[in-house]
Parts: sequence; structure tokens; C-alpha cells
Amino acid sequence: MCGTDDASSYRAYLDELFRAGLLISSGVRGVYGRSGTFEDVIMGFERYVTREGKPLSPEVMHFPPLLSRAHYTKINHIHNFPDLMGSVHTFMGGDPEHRELVRKLADGEDWTRDLAPADVMLIPAACYPLYPTATGTTLGASGRLIDLVSYVFRHEPSDDPARMQIFRQREYVRLGTAEQALNHRNEWLERGKAILQSLGLAVEAVVANDPFFGRGGRLAKATQREQVLKFELVIPICSTEKPTAISSCNLHLDYFGHAFGIDGPDGQPAHTACIGFGLERIALALFKTHGLNVDAWPKGVRELLTLA
Ligand code: ZN
Repeated sequence: MCGTDDASSYRAYLDELFRAGLLISSGVRGVYGRSGTFEDVIMGFERYVTREGKPLSPEVMHFPPLLSRAHYTKINHIHNFPDLMGSVHTFMGGDPEHRELVRKLADGEDWTRDLAPADVMLIPAACYPLYPTATGTTLGASGRLIDLVSYVFRHEPSDDPARMQIFRQREYVRLGTAEQALNHRNEWLERGKAILQSLGLAVEAVVANDPFFGRGGRLAKATQREQVLKFELVIPICSTEKPTAISSCNLHLDYFGHAFGIDGPDGQPAHTACIGFGLERIALALFKTHGLNVDAWPKGVRELLTLA
């Protein structure tokens, strides 16, 4: 049972999900296999979101969960969330270095320091690979709307089943003028809330309070709150005191337009905004709310997810 936010309540719900076969343990906290039923719920939710987004005629672009290291260094993730980053490393030596690598492994020594960084980082948000592809472009009068989904990585091992290290985000991203971006954020906040509430999820919109790193992060934290850049839709999954954000609506101002040289219709750096649905968290919220047996979920919910 959940209800308090002590570590054991997270562990208890995680064990319940393992026993039901919905999540499959990998031996690493926050990295799980998912059952067919779990995936059916996610696919059903995605179909629902696709239906809701269709009248807006978005471009659909899917990227792998990797970002070029060069592009990663153009954004301030390394300043704000260094503890969450995922960097891909590989072996680039020759025969002698390889012999040494294998010897270290056999002798129980640390072999990972012999690895070298590859050209890529794991992405911390589904929309990050999009912006570099628009570098050097000028947006038309109506801007662009892009529908994205990807696995994203955040290094935060936890027993909280809703705090995974690798999970999927479904996003709708707007590139355009300041007004277009703000409208997108605000419209999707309402649309996202309506979608989740129609599924029986009693979400609440709150201003986000991201865990910016260290002393330097205090300013970023204050700015985020003062300028109301990010809303989260939260619902208790394992803790009523610390409800879980299952969706977020973000206003980036001209940050990405500036960083990646994207011009808006007015010739100024493009403004961007996105809504992200945390797909695994939404599935977990549905299981928490309606029970672990999907066949027994309310008929209306099953119909919206086209599970019936
Ligand atoms: Zn985004």
C-alpha cells in the first residue's frame, strides 16, 4: 500500500507491480521491462493523444534517444542537471589496450576508465533532438507543430516505480512567435488536463519546482517559478504528500531558438513550448487509480484507450 512517502511504500508498490508481472525487474533500480498489458495501456493512451492532436495537423518526427555531444553542449543541461545526464562511452583502443581492458575485467579492477566518450549523449527530454534539425531556418507565419515520442534518460536510481531512469515522453512542440508558443503551452495545459481527467485521473496543475543542481541552480529555480515557465499535472501515485508529475507544459521562451539559430516568423529567435506526457507514469497512475486488472477498469476508460 502507498499513502506516505517513506521509501518502503515505494518499494511495496514496486513489488506489487513485479508480482502482477506488469513491470519486470532488471536488477537496476529504475530500469524495468514492461509486460504486454502495460504496453497495451501505453499504446492505448498514445492512440487517444493522437486523436486529440489530429485536428492540429502536427508534423510527426521520431528520433532515437540520442543527441550529438556537440548539440548537448549548446544547451545548459550540464549546468542545471549534471547529476541526471547520460553520456555514451565506448572502447576506442587497439590490441594492447584491449588486452589491458580484458585483464582489468578479469582481475576485478575498474575497466570503465579505459573507455572514451562517443559522439552522443542520451537525451533528457524528447524534444531536444528536434531543435538542431531546424538550425538556420526561418519559420513561416504559422510556425511549426511537431509530434514526438522517445525514450529519455535521467540518472536518478530510485525504488519509486514512477521514477524510472529510462522512460518515454510523448510531446507536442510548438516553434513560432512568443504568442504562438505561449498559446500552445496554455492550450495544451487545458487539453492535457482534460485528457487525463477523462481517464479518471484527478490531476492538478501546479507550477513546477525542478531540482536544478547546486548553488548555481538557485537562480534557475527562482526564474522558473517567477516567470511561471513550467506547469506540471500531478497526481498521487505512491505518495499523497509528494504527488507525481505525469505531464508537464513548458515555455522555453527563445532559449532554443537562440541556442540553435532558429528564426521565428518575425525574424527574431523563435520561441518554443512543449507539452510532455510521461507515458510510464500515466500508465502507473491508471493502474493505481483503477487497479492492476485492466479487464476490470471502467468501461468508459477502456473505450477511450480503445482497449475494449
Ligand atoms: Zn519538450
